[in-house]
Amino acid sequence: MKRLVLASGNAGKLAEFNAMLAHLPYEIVPQKALGVEDVPETGTTFVENALIKARHACTVTGLPALADDSGLIVDALGGAPGLYSARYAGEPSNAAANNAKLLDAMRDIPDGQRRARFYAVIVLLRHPEDPQPLIAEGAWEGEVIRELRGTGGFGYNPLFLDPDYGLTAAEMDDALKNKLSHRGRALAVLNQQLTALFAGT
Ligand code: IMP
Repeated sequence: MKRLVLASGNAGKLAEFNAMLAHLPYEIVPQKALGVEDVPETGTTFVENALIKARHACTVTGLPALADDSGLIVDALGGAPGLYSARYAGEPSNAAANNAKLLDAMRDIPDGQRRARFYAVIVLLRHPEDPQPLIAEGAWEGEVIRELRGTGGFGYNPLFLDPDYGLTAAEMDDALKNKLSHRGRALAVLNQQLTALFAGT
């Protein structure tokens, strides 16, 4: 079977990509298994960082590459933590410290102005000079609450409320979270794009 390299070392993401893209004639291989090291994420937008990661994996392996980038964007903080979501409270990445910093930064922001969204972008580069990468985006609108609620998932989940459901991302089961989430939506878009691509070949 032909192979696609996934420019991420995260086992959870590999499982998500494999599940969503199982019908395609490609085996998805994590970059580490092919000897690809992480590359510095020097872009100033999510899509630039995803393209940097995918291009690096493509260049090293000679295979088409998939990469994603994601984070939490808070309007009242000018988009922070944004690109720096994983290391908002410093390195190494620590979700409890990130959540504490976010609560602190938003202490004086009134209800009604606490709007935020999770954002994810996934790109596919067929080769390092591919001028027309596939780019799939997904966003999940919500708000940042004032105390942690729930234990599921990771990262900022316990502070991110979906107002339509009245639940935080940490209070949802996986099926609901995958249906609503930024990454789930981006994967669904990518899936459509890939299916169309294969239908045309
Ligand atoms: P990355 O795309 O793996 O670099 O993730 C960036 C960071 O954004 C993560 O470390 C989390 O802090 C945050 N993040 C992204 N997606 C989610 C999510 O679904 N729930 C909670 N936090 C998330």
